[in-house]
Amino acid sequence: MLADSLKFERQRQEMVLKQIESRGVSDPKVLSALRKVPRHVFVSEALRDQAYGDFPLPIGEQQTISQPYIVAEMTQALEIKAEDRVLEIGTGSGYQAAILAEIAYRVYTVERIRTLYFKARKLFDQLHYHNIITKYSDGSMGWSSESPFDAIIVTAGAPDIPDTLVQQLGLGGRMVVPVGNQYSQDLIKIFKDESGRVRKMNLGGCRFVKLVGEQGWGE
Ligand code: SAH
Repeated sequence: MLADSLKFERQRQEMVLKQIESRGVSDPKVLSALRKVPRHVFVSEALRDQAYGDFPLPIGEQQTISQPYIVAEMTQALEIKAEDRVLEIGTGSGYQAAILAEIAYRVYTVERIRTLYFKARKLFDQLHYHNIITKYSDGSMGWSSESPFDAIIVTAGAPDIPDTLVQQLGLGGRMVVPVGNQYSQDLIKIFKDESGRVRKMNLGGCRFVKLVGEQGWGE
């Protein structure tokens, strides 16, 4: 089931060239992670042939795996170093966490839908991602016992920047979070400098499923 055929390998290299590098993502660590992680195993068998297309795909429970370019853009914006500990809110298929795990020291990822949580956990084990720590809960409140984090990525759209997550960001830390209404959001990058001052930057429009929870939308 996890076989990486030559066909998928070719589609993946083409995806990186035509969708990612051509649009200006240039961080070599991000590009090499995208060339390596077998995106097709993170979607259902019926959708495998579309896994390397330039669009998001359904992963069940009305959730989606993000378009490859968005994954690349968000990962690059996090400026991850090899020793970094990264928090992800919204494990979903697990693809973004796997990309992060190729670059970071350790990835903590939280998912609130049980079936998705278990599916992703199983994949991480099968693919030997021993540096991915998973949790089944409302991630809008972060993971305080493991904070501070060097980087935080929220892969679901929030009504506002979740304060609790900004608090769990270490000095010098970076965070990306889609903020807006339920139909469209802006991708906001937050940088916490060494004195604890927070700066915000708008990276442009995006469209994510809802962040549901205490610091997100209601059910
Ligand atoms: N990063 C994922 C994208 C998943 S879509 C991937 O690579 O596939 C967003 C995910 O966020 C969904 O699975 C959804 O259930 C989850 N989510 C939404 N609100 C959440 C919350 N408060 N805590 C944890 N996960 C949440």
